[in-house]
Amino acid sequence: MEELETKGLVISEVRTGEADKILTLLTAEHGKITVSGKGVASLKSRHMPATQLFSYSSFNLKKTKKYFYIADSDLIEPFFDIRYDVNKLSLANYICEVVDYLAVEEMGEEDLLRLALNSLFALANRSGLPDEQIKAAFEMRAASVSGFEPNLDKCGECGDDETDGLIYLDVMNGRLICGNCLRTVRGAGDEDRTARIYLALSPSVLEAVRFTVHAPIERFLSFQIEADELRPFSVVCEKYLLSHIEHGFRSLDYYNSLIRNGNFDE
Ligand SMILES: [Zn+2]
Repeated sequence: MEELETKGLVISEVRTGEADKILTLLTAEHGKITVSGKGVASLKSRHMPATQLFSYSSFNLKKTKKYFYIADSDLIEPFFDIRYDVNKLSLANYICEVVDYLAVEEMGEEDLLRLALNSLFALANRSGLPDEQIKAAFEMRAASVSGFEPNLDKCGECGDDETDGLIYLDVMNGRLICGNCLRTVRGAGDEDRTARIYLALSPSVLEAVRFTVHAPIERFLSFQIEADELRPFSVVCEKYLLSHIEHGFRSLDYYNSLIRNGNFDE
């Protein structure tokens, strides 16, 4: 019988019976693991705390036929405060949906796990950061961790690193492009239309994007951005991630509908 000792973040749960769930865990060593949680949704189950959505727990898993089941569990961090705030809850759902989409099975996913844990920790622990900043930084770093890291040194066309003029993020080519080169590229008119997503970056948004991509993972949220630059920063990061992975998320639609209806905190 296959047996596994691992720590995992519960990134998805599907109820399959009165007290049964199928769980998806994100782990550093084994990527995504699907686990049968028979009876774990019961209040009487000793595995109940460790198997809630967003719980980070250590598990002893055993495999029979198709699925792992839980032989033992120990809750490490419940990220409890996320559950009391509708904005935070929808963002936490979005973070988990994104990492569920990006992670693979039987492959190390340490960076993705640390990114998700750091983001949930900041959301839950009143880091003082606006939720929108956590969302945006998570999106840009998730894109980078998944192989879409943009080159942010200088204009990818002419090599000019004087970024005091207008500079754009050339989303699909993962690079910067200066105003002059963008005019030339657009004038040529022979490029693939689907590759045309250019987003103007203000100096502070560019600085925030650079920090988010290059900072050590445990510090990737440790920056400040002016309140009026926050929404533009978020729009850039969301567009960048979604354009590269070509996938939408229900939890994101829901979060954005909350923001449109005035739940935007600053
Ligand atoms: Zn240029």
